[in-house]
Amino acid sequence: MTIDIRKVTVLGTGVLGSQIAFQTAFHGFDVTAYDIDDEALDAARDRFATLVTTYEAEVEGAGGGKAGRTAESITLTADLADAVKDADLVIEAVPEVLTIKQDTYRKLAELAPERTIFATNSSTLLPSDIEDATGRPDKFLALHFANRVWKFNTAEVMGTADTDPAVFAAVVAFAENIGMVPIELHKEKAGYVLNSLLVPFLNSGIALAAGGYADPEAVDKTWRIATGAPMGPFQILDIIGLTTPYNILANSGEADGEQLAAWLKANYIDKGKLGIATGEGFYRYNG
Ligand code: NAD
Repeated sequence: MTIDIRKVTVLGTGVLGSQIAFQTAFHGFDVTAYDIDDEALDAARDRFATLVTTYEAEVEGAGGGKAGRTAESITLTADLADAVKDADLVIEAVPEVLTIKQDTYRKLAELAPERTIFATNSSTLLPSDIEDATGRPDKFLALHFANRVWKFNTAEVMGTADTDPAVFAAVVAFAENIGMVPIELHKEKAGYVLNSLLVPFLNSGIALAAGGYADPEAVDKTWRIATGAPMGPFQILDIIGLTTPYNILANSGEADGEQLAAWLKANYIDKGKLGIATGEGFYRYNG
């Protein structure tokens, strides 16, 4: 039996949740976005307004009022029961805190119809860390987007040993239907494909500069020229922003990681050089 996904509810309308809701609505799905209170919903309205401008500038077919109609089509609510009462798929993008996720799924388990599929956008938790709270391990998996979903459009799909293959297939098809390139993982892996490659790569770059072996510019230049890649690790770090990589290293529990974190903090973070968002990171940006 194929599973039909039409009605989608996104939980959490922060950086990623707002993008996922907007991208899904842009592709014609019936979207409800939930957040905890009126203040968070006002912030969501602001995020959607910004996305209208971004889509008009960067996404093909977003002109002629389509992006504006997309924002208007999204139902916003702070009532969880109402948000999920008729959902085929719930995509969860609440804060990356295990207890908040578990608490959210315990409530969802009670409130959502039996057929509803739950997908977590968690970057660092494994779905098997959360599945017990869902009450439906067969209909639960990870669907992991990258920041700026309309442009960096991978959607990593990763189930647990308990995920029903038909549910997995339905979520892969859904990802394709909202303009993503689905990346199927055959078993659980912390960091999925992308971060399993990217995090060690970025850390190796930082180690070269922090160890005094080569300047950030030289590291990036080497990578660009010798591999043909458009960007080196420090250019990528400036786009991501230095705070998240710093937090990952500082909490790595390893002396080497903590040393790299200290170097980032003393030379960049404490000086307000957090990347493109602050106008300067490893490089300086105008405008
Ligand atoms: P964020 O802090 O920007 O947004 C979180 C949102 O959840 C906020 O709007 C907040 O009001 C809301 N919220 C708080 N408590 C809640 C609750 N109990 N129920 C529902 N909503 C609640 O976070 P984010 O960066 O969008 O990250 C959300 C998830 O997406 C995390 O699991 C993160 O790992 C993942 N993710 C983030 C990125 C990224 O680049 N930011 C990329 C991929 C995946």
